[in-house]
Amino acid sequence: MRLSSVLRFPYDFGGRDVAHWFPGHMAKGMKQMRAKLTKVDCIVEVHDARIPLSGRNPFFKEHLGIKPHLLILNKLDLADLTHQNRIITQLRKQEVGKVIYTDCIREENVRKIVPAITERIECHPRFNRAENPEICIMVTGIPNVGKSSLINALRRIHLRKGKASRVGGEPGITRSVLCKIQVSENPLIYLLDTPGVLSPRIENVETGMKLALCGTILDHLVGEEMIADYLLYTLNNYAQHSYVQHYELEGPCDDIETLLKKIAKKLGKTQVVKAITGTGNVNITIPNYSAAAYDFIRAFRKGDLGRVTLD
Ligand code: GDP
Repeated sequence: MRLSSVLRFPYDFGGRDVAHWFPGHMAKGMKQMRAKLTKVDCIVEVHDARIPLSGRNPFFKEHLGIKPHLLILNKLDLADLTHQNRIITQLRKQEVGKVIYTDCIREENVRKIVPAITERIECHPRFNRAENPEICIMVTGIPNVGKSSLINALRRIHLRKGKASRVGGEPGITRSVLCKIQVSENPLIYLLDTPGVLSPRIENVETGMKLALCGTILDHLVGEEMIADYLLYTLNNYAQHSYVQHYELEGPCDDIETLLKKIAKKLGKTQVVKAITGTGNVNITIPNYSAAAYDFIRAFRKGDLGRVTLD
């Protein structure tokens, strides 16, 4: 029987509650973020290219049209870009004016960012450059999408040039808050070197699972074995079977327990548990499912299980 005919579909989320996947401290951070962002001239929002439509904070909706905005879809090396046009069309409907796919580790497309910012600002009807000769940009986005990596990549590219300089903070004020990097001279553009962290928008359990898969929600809040199960479901449904080769399996499988058992065996990850029998306690060795789930998720996040776009 072909696997596709026996695949689970749709995924059973089992009535899970996503409320606790949104850590309370982030709501507080959001308030501070709002205050900071109002002082910024162009918002550079970073998001994960594997979830281009899910999880973006609605904050930008309020500000689009008021402030120049650029959407960076980072980790392009991990995303399946086959449906890039559909994604861009959908983002345009959400009033996203400009999208750039980047890989901040290999610095792919990072050089396109400053010219795009200049263009966003110049074509923005409500931005009065005569009154604001100095432009300040801020990198923001949900956790773990590569905001710091982007700032570091921009720093590497633009600080290498003689003209670009790092501007220290004012005395007595935390350096990390006010440290600016000049990334362009004409127009004069500065980048705040502290990223703004926004909480993800978790509309439903499925969005929550996608966000968890991409590492934007702490794993323990969702549960690693649950993430691993959703990962397996996703890979099979996208017919992305690279995990078969990666773990040297006989073929695709749709049962997470079976898969984790095989991964644990291959990795030599076992655990000893006590079992109570009629003749006393005995130690038995069983597969370490948690270690296997951890490895499976990490392999996906590193790109070892192939490229996938989850939206
Ligand atoms: P932040 O929390 O948004 O500031 O994210 P970080 O910059 O700390 O990056 C989170 C993780 O993603 C790190 O392990 C980075 O090495 C990794 N990362 C960042 N950009 C890329 C990218 O373009 N491709 C890949 N594969 N990994 C990336």
